[in-house]
Amino acid sequence: MQLKKSQNKASDSWSAEDSANLYGIREWGADYFDVSKQGEAVVKVNFGDNTVTIPIIDIVEGMRERGLEMPAILRIENLLDQRIKQINEAFARAIYDQGYQNHYRGVFPIKVNQQCHVIEEIAAYGKHYHHGLEAGSKAELIIALSQLQDHESLIVCNGYKDEEFIELGLYARQMGIQCFFVLETTAELPIILERSKALGIEPLIGVRIKLASMVEGHWNADSGDRSIFGLSTSALLTVVEQLKAANMLHCLQLLHCHLGSQIPNIRNIRTGVLEACRFYTGLIAEGAPLGYMDLGGGLAVDYEGSQTTNTHSMNYQLDEYCINIVETIQENLDPLGIAHPVIVSESGRALVAYSSMLLFNVLDVRDHKAPPLPESLPEGSIDLLKNLFNVLQSVNVKNLQECYNDSLYYRDEVRDLFHRGHATLHDRALAEDFNLAILERITQLLPQVTRISPELENLPELLSDIYYGNFSLFQSLPDIWAIDQVMPVMPIHRLNEEPTRDAIIADITCDCDGKIDVFTGPEGLQSTLKLHALRDNEEYYLSVFLIGAYQETLGDLHNLFGDTHVVSVHISEDGSFDFAREFHGDSIADVLSYVEYDPKVMQEQFRRIAETAVREGKISVAMRQQMIKAFRDSLNGYTYFER
Ligand SMILES: *Cc1c(COP(=O)(O)O)cnc(C)c1O
Repeated sequence: MQLKKSQNKASDSWSAEDSANLYGIREWGADYFDVSKQGEAVVKVNFGDNTVTIPIIDIVEGMRERGLEMPAILRIENLLDQRIKQINEAFARAIYDQGYQNHYRGVFPIKVNQQCHVIEEIAAYGKHYHHGLEAGSKAELIIALSQLQDHESLIVCNGYKDEEFIELGLYARQMGIQCFFVLETTAELPIILERSKALGIEPLIGVRIKLASMVEGHWNADSGDRSIFGLSTSALLTVVEQLKAANMLHCLQLLHCHLGSQIPNIRNIRTGVLEACRFYTGLIAEGAPLGYMDLGGGLAVDYEGSQTTNTHSMNYQLDEYCINIVETIQENLDPLGIAHPVIVSESGRALVAYSSMLLFNVLDVRDHKAPPLPESLPEGSIDLLKNLFNVLQSVNVKNLQECYNDSLYYRDEVRDLFHRGHATLHDRALAEDFNLAILERITQLLPQVTRISPELENLPELLSDIYYGNFSLFQSLPDIWAIDQVMPVMPIHRLNEEPTRDAIIADITCDCDGKIDVFTGPEGLQSTLKLHALRDNEEYYLSVFLIGAYQETLGDLHNLFGDTHVVSVHISEDGSFDFAREFHGDSIADVLSYVEYDPKVMQEQFRRIAETAVREGKISVAMRQQMIKAFRDSLNGYTYFER
């Protein structure tokens, strides 16, 4: 990955517009986010002719008034609704424009965000479009059965299914719910046939096929021969034979494939759909009725905003995605006179990513700046320090590399002397500070130089500030840690001030992996982010956007930082917003009980220690009370940093 330095725009007339460009919010924000003239990041909600914009900082204010401190996940219900609407309407448009002779049915894969209020909102708002749910486990099927009230919506069951799972699905079928069992392996079929016969309920069956078309991007393992999911071609034929033998081939109504998640290149999607069409026509030739073609997930999100085939981006628009699918099916089925199937897709990421953001405050900044240095060296200083002093005086655009080499060399020599007991702590401190001052001077001059060595190129990052954010990467942004996912980060206020600091962001776990050091920028990915200097007695708020997919339940309890608060906001057409739901994050007692501690026992143990101290005369009874109260308050408190 080629990372560029963040650019310096030397300007005293910085505007909110400049911030919008710097952070690329209009590129990745997909028209849901922008910067206001007042310099605040805003959420935009479209109500037909009227667009309402709400500064995110106003929502943060409202949260604080309600006792919900940072960090917190903010969900905008309207954005979930808008995505459902846009995906369904884009398919409807493509179907209408191309004269396709059937309709579209979306299903949301529950695993992408299982949170109750997300699923409830999808079920409620999605009803209008008959948007259904995809379940990959018994627990998810139970969610789907309890949430979907609309019998025109589909429930698609993937994953391994035991008897209990299958019985539940069959009962749903009996009640008129369109619940499909998608066969992942041949082993499932006998159980389905047996249970179906025993209960006298006919199943709706789908088959998951393995596409040979390989896909670029992070998650390409879902495609190709070695995919761990789906039936091989010969297994597929075995299933057809078994269904025929049981006189149940008419139950085989759905063909399922899933190319992988976050597919950046539209060409891969087209190739995959084409291959799926071949399977579809092949199965029709075998006598299966089919009628549903389920193309799985994969519709990407442009986290980077670059509209390219980069892993975190996509080179197509939603409309183009739908048109490509509709067209490819027509082109392949029409010549054979095969009726157009219902098109099903399982977009997860593209449906929920936009609706959530992680908000946090900055607790501290460690800058990497040399302290003020003496104008001259003390009498009798060691020669190496004099050398460093001279290097600092001589830095200019012509000798950057030489000064860099000398500076590191002399500093290391001083450290060497120190190790052998021939230099003092003061000598070492001065050597390190001089070196830092020299590197800073070099960095300032870099923009005036055309050819820069890789070592010097890395200097801005090496000298960048570390902003400590009040959050845990492992709990709230696990994909940034686990798979180098890139997500847009920026301040949500002060955007009409020029950000002058180059920074990376560290979380509050004491883990060196708990950091964000790849950012989206105007010229691609970069290793530092421009941020504002902190002000005394004023909070500085940042937001990580587009985190609605996969992050919440993949997160873990590293360092025992628990779930953050979650707030769902609903924005109204008159420009007001209400806190539709609020959930308080884990208390310390909560996370301790997750790892099998009993907070009551812990309180009792602490009480005993305090009581012994009273008996031994170390503390008074009043003090004992105060200490026990502090212990209890901590147990009940938030796991994050509280002001
Ligand atoms: C994960 C998954 C999806 C969702 O994929 P996205 O790329 O998030 O849309 C859809 N279908 C199946 C079978 C999956 O496993």
